[in-house]
Amino acid sequence: MMKTLLPGSMSGTGQQITLGVMGGGQLGRMFVQAAQAMGYFTAVLDPDPVSPAGLISHFHIQTPYDDEQGLAQLMQRCEAITTEFENVPAGALFTLGAHRPVAPSSQCVATAQDRVREKAHFVRSAPTSGVQPAPYAAIETPELLAAAPADLLPGILKTSRMGYDGKGQIRVADRAALAAAWDQLGRVPCVLEKLLPLKAECSVIVARGADGQCVSFPVQKNTHRDGILALTEVHEGALDAALAQRAQQATMAIAHELGYVGVLCVEFFIVDGPDGAPTLVVNEMAPRPHNSGHYTQDACDLSQFEAQVRALAGLPLPAPRQHSPAIMVNLLGDLWFEPNGVRAQRSEQPVSPPWAQVLALPGTHLHLYGKLSARHGRKMGHLNITGTTVAEVRETAAKVLALLGLPGLDG
Ligand code: ADP
Ligand code: MG
Repeated sequence: MMKTLLPGSMSGTGQQITLGVMGGGQLGRMFVQAAQAMGYFTAVLDPDPVSPAGLISHFHIQTPYDDEQGLAQLMQRCEAITTEFENVPAGALFTLGAHRPVAPSSQCVATAQDRVREKAHFVRSAPTSGVQPAPYAAIETPELLAAAPADLLPGILKTSRMGYDGKGQIRVADRAALAAAWDQLGRVPCVLEKLLPLKAECSVIVARGADGQCVSFPVQKNTHRDGILALTEVHEGALDAALAQRAQQATMAIAHELGYVGVLCVEFFIVDGPDGAPTLVVNEMAPRPHNSGHYTQDACDLSQFEAQVRALAGLPLPAPRQHSPAIMVNLLGDLWFEPNGVRAQRSEQPVSPPWAQVLALPGTHLHLYGKLSARHGRKMGHLNITGTTVAEVRETAAKVLALLGLPGLDG
């Protein structure tokens, strides 16, 4: 049972209440920032000595995720522990969970980190969620490969585990391409998914407490480029309101069916249904805050990271309210090599993008993750843009995108 860990209080052993996080990436960093803002001490376990979260946490345990001594140190330091990425070995969370409150649980993380289990959960939840995943088949043996239904082609072959930002997936047109793709992915367990004609993509973040109380953030409309999230738009008119409401209900049902505690993000495809009306297809879930939820930091009265802190600490979770229309722009390392968006002038050495010009625009909120070196495709930060009206936010976003040399809102 999760007891309430009041902010700024002392533990039984006389140390400051400390919240722990497995993983030191940017999501861990923003969890740490939210926890510290509320007066908690924090501990991060990540082997990287310069991880974004480790650099700013009170305690940083630098061991591999499955290191027994590292896990013991984390338990000794922390009253409760969460995770910031789904590829933490579920066994490590299981070990921690035997001694400390861990949210989300090892079982929920294990479901989210394996596409076969994840999709099976979506199918199991369909009666209450009202959404189905794309047609798929598990490809785990040469026999299953040979037996893959023809109507899944053209499709996308995705590794069951460890995929992110479009990595570990290959589009396949026919059986020969499918066989070659499975070879290329090392014949590891995979899922073959039918390629769907997407109208759009959206995602929903919910926070669920140990008492089962669940609140939803507004629905995000997402634009991906090269398999990586590029833009998130959250404002009136971005999505059909009835569809958005269905996505929220579906996400709550999926969380409920898992007995989930913590912050959960579910991604959806929007496709044309049989009757031509927009329909939701559930894609995948992340057992943690999500890149598409970063706008909550500046556009809502509760951020997804504070929600993660509250769920972990057993604090109340009032329904979040969005107070400003918002657009979030992801800042990939590429921007550091084309600082003024001029591809022809690609520099060898990283150069800072024109932040002074960007920040001169009202309603721009820069979040950089403290990563020490920029690389192509690396998530370096994000920019939240807020304003009083949708038109104003879109206008500012268009200026920001032009300054950074990124494609415009509709391009
Ligand atoms: P990742 O773990 O890399 O986020 P996803 O399964 O979410 O993997 O795929 C990344 C992106 O690829 C999706 O956001 C979507 O744009 C596209 N995509 C994935 N699966 C399909 C599909 N079955 N049909 C069409 N597009 C897809
Ligand atoms: Mg995805």
